Amino acid sequence: MKRKRRRRKVEDIALQRIVRLFELAEADARKKDVKGRSRGDRYVQLAREIGMRYRVRIPSHLKMRICRGCYSFLIPGKNARVRLRGDYITTTCLKCGMQMRRPYKAPRPPSRRREKINSKARFNFSKLTAYDILT
Ligand SMILES: [Zn+2]
Repeated sequence: MKRKRRRRKVEDIALQRIVRLFELAEADARKKDVKGRSRGDRYVQLAREIGMRYRVRIPSHLKMRICRGCYSFLIPGKNARVRLRGDYITTTCLKCGMQMRRPYKAPRPPSRRREKINSKARFNFSKLTAYDILT
């Protein structure tokens, strides 16, 4: 029990650090480059290493900001091209040419069946039968 709790705490701190490193990378990207170098790549590298060491996933919205080919911090309009292609968002790294695709869909109106299940579940979950869910 105790070990589990400690593990969760460690994971929590690791995640906080990852998020913070991405914040720093973002802030650095907006600054003017003095020598044309960015600290963003280094921050991202550290975030990846923390994630691997403590086995914490990098949140997906942040993962999209890393190139899968060269692991650089991607800044759309600067070193990355973002395009909508059919059902995919295609991000091209302008450093190494790697293309990353992520599917996206327009939000659908909520389904009636789902709403029915939700309202029933909220009302009285214990009396819910299989028949209620299927109709
Ligand atoms: Zn790249």
